[in-house]
Amino acid sequence: MKELGVPELFGSLVFDDRVMRARLSAEVYDSLKKTIDENEKLNLDVAQAVASAMRDWAVEHGATHFTHWFQPLTGVTAEKHDSFIAPSPDGGVIMEFSGKELIKGEPDASSFPSGGLRATFEARGYTAWDPTSYAFIKDHTLCIPTAFCSYSGDALDKKTPLLRSMQALNRQAKRILKLFGKEVKYVRTSVGPEQEYFLIDEEMYNKRPDLVYTGRTLFGAMPPKGQELDDHYFGVIKPRVTAFMEDLNSELWKLGILAKTEHNEVAPAQHELAPIFSTTNVATDNNQLMMEIMQKVARRHGMVCLLHEKPFAGVNGSGKHNNWSMATDTGVNLLSPGETPYENAQFLLFLCAVIQAVDDSQDLLRLSVATAGNDHRLGANEAPPAIISVFLGDELTAVLEAIKTDTPYQGTEKVIMKLGVHSLPRFSRDNTDRNRTSPFAFTGNKFEFRSLGSSNSIACCNIMLNAAVAESLRQYADKLEQAEDFETTLHDLIKEIVKKHERILFNGNGYGKEWVKEATEVRGLSNLKTTADAMPHLLDQKNMDMLIAQKVFTETELHSRCEIMLENYCKSVNIEGHTMVDMVRKNYLPAIDGYLGSLAKTVSLMRSVSENVKCTYEVTAIERLSGLSDSILEKVGALEKALEALKSCDDILKTSEAVRDEVLPKMETLRKDVDEAEILTKEECWPFPSYGKLLFSVY
Ligand code: ADP
Ligand code: MG
Repeated sequence: MKELGVPELFGSLVFDDRVMRARLSAEVYDSLKKTIDENEKLNLDVAQAVASAMRDWAVEHGATHFTHWFQPLTGVTAEKHDSFIAPSPDGGVIMEFSGKELIKGEPDASSFPSGGLRATFEARGYTAWDPTSYAFIKDHTLCIPTAFCSYSGDALDKKTPLLRSMQALNRQAKRILKLFGKEVKYVRTSVGPEQEYFLIDEEMYNKRPDLVYTGRTLFGAMPPKGQELDDHYFGVIKPRVTAFMEDLNSELWKLGILAKTEHNEVAPAQHELAPIFSTTNVATDNNQLMMEIMQKVARRHGMVCLLHEKPFAGVNGSGKHNNWSMATDTGVNLLSPGETPYENAQFLLFLCAVIQAVDDSQDLLRLSVATAGNDHRLGANEAPPAIISVFLGDELTAVLEAIKTDTPYQGTEKVIMKLGVHSLPRFSRDNTDRNRTSPFAFTGNKFEFRSLGSSNSIACCNIMLNAAVAESLRQYADKLEQAEDFETTLHDLIKEIVKKHERILFNGNGYGKEWVKEATEVRGLSNLKTTADAMPHLLDQKNMDMLIAQKVFTETELHSRCEIMLENYCKSVNIEGHTMVDMVRKNYLPAIDGYLGSLAKTVSLMRSVSENVKCTYEVTAIERLSGLSDSILEKVGALEKALEALKSCDDILKTSEAVRDEVLPKMETLRKDVDEAEILTKEECWPFPSYGKLLFSVY
């Protein structure tokens, strides 16, 4: 059979617009389109017609089952498969799929995290079809993207608040555009997430319990070579990795995912894949799917794809860059500087809305990317710091400065920044200064939020970002709609925003020590270093007020989410702690002991030959290693105690603090001793593959 070309392959497993147009009656198609684009209610007749068409299409493509595909608060996706079969009178089966089955499912919700919500809802939850994200076929199963709620209507997933936040932003952005004389059908946010990951050999992986249980190495001395030569970044891709990437691309293309850019990253064995951007909701579903498929395809190639934020100490961890913008249904990017003064004023207002949002909701953005894994990156010398600030580049900063002070802009043309009256200079799109140390950077026509961890669902940060920008826009719309003189009010408003929020603007080096001092001591920005520090701010009154007013979360949902996220943090670290104890007691201590024994034997054997031999190597190694062994024993005992103490703590906030202050530091010092012992021990005696083997064995 001739292989399909990419255009034929692309989307071949997706019930996308092309399929809908071809398979639905014009009437049904129009009605569904209205639901997708304008949020209109879907009636059951239409759902019935769509379901039949979906079933026929799916069965023709080899599907035997269907599932509602959803994103509970575990951070991964969930599915429960039902086959299409129904008994027919003649003893055979027919393939059935009803409109009701399409729009609603009732999985047992009791085993998914619900935080405090469990008390208020029954075990049952329901899933509801999200027609704005296309259904697709995976492993002979028709997957229907759905939202997941409790019976009382509380969101138990990440999609529901994301859709609500998109609606909030849509509502407010349309009010602003109306003031500029533009009626649009909708404004949507779009996202292009750049995904980093590691690929390591499966055989090596299987030998490391820490990787298997926790996704990261908990021990491991640095190999002689790390990333110091910078020879991996954009380097030639190794054949096994190339084969993986080709396979991955074709799987992703079949699922309609716009996989575009791939390259080697900074650390050895680290890579990146970026798709072309799409609507936030779709981009989120696609990113979840992409992470799943990456792991699956890697196994086919005898490798394991690590999505953990910090699989290896001493080399870079993995993040995800969330490129974000807002666009109208007519395809106008609202973060693109325009051609006319009026458009530029509009651009500046939307720009200000983002600046204000980031300043007002620094803590929300920080906590939206907070996990035990990502805490290892933020603040280290590879990722943006835990302090959130905005990079605009010199040109835009100068424009805002000129507006703030009513002074001429020292750009190409000298004009006073009187918005809408005088022409603004053209901004050059090309950001020559590509600041890489800013957590939130303007890159010409979009913002790039760089603090996400590689395994984070992008839903979380986009919920906060959309909601916060919607809130800024609401404040502006309230003011501008009442204005007698629109232009003057607008001008004064922008001036006021710049003055009030310029503390969040920072074009300098975000990794520098001076910045931490300036940010926290002079500017009063927040610096929430760990999940335990960040997460409780979800329940700060100002944050709750904003998120509830924007109808993104209810108060109960916020409480439940805070609890679940802290629980996830504590559980992850707890598993890591226990894995360490297990490895130390069962493997490391016995291995050191074994080596010590063989050294001691050598010494007595040699001394029996001659009284004059010094045995310097053996004796010093024995002294150092037995000292380390004692210290390891003591430290593993202390770690065990700290883990045990967690059990008696029934307050999640206190538990998370104990994890941060007691457990994590004990894990770190234990690791130090074991890593030192590794360097002193004969390779064959060491129980697990070294960093060198893990990082450099894929060719
Ligand atoms: P880099 O940041 O590596 O230079 P690009 O700037 O080309 O790469 O794009 C990074 C990501 O940003 C890609 O996924 C791209 O599709 C996405 N992107 C480009 N324009 C937009 C936009 N208007 N909204 C959201 N994402 C966008
Ligand atoms: Mg980028």
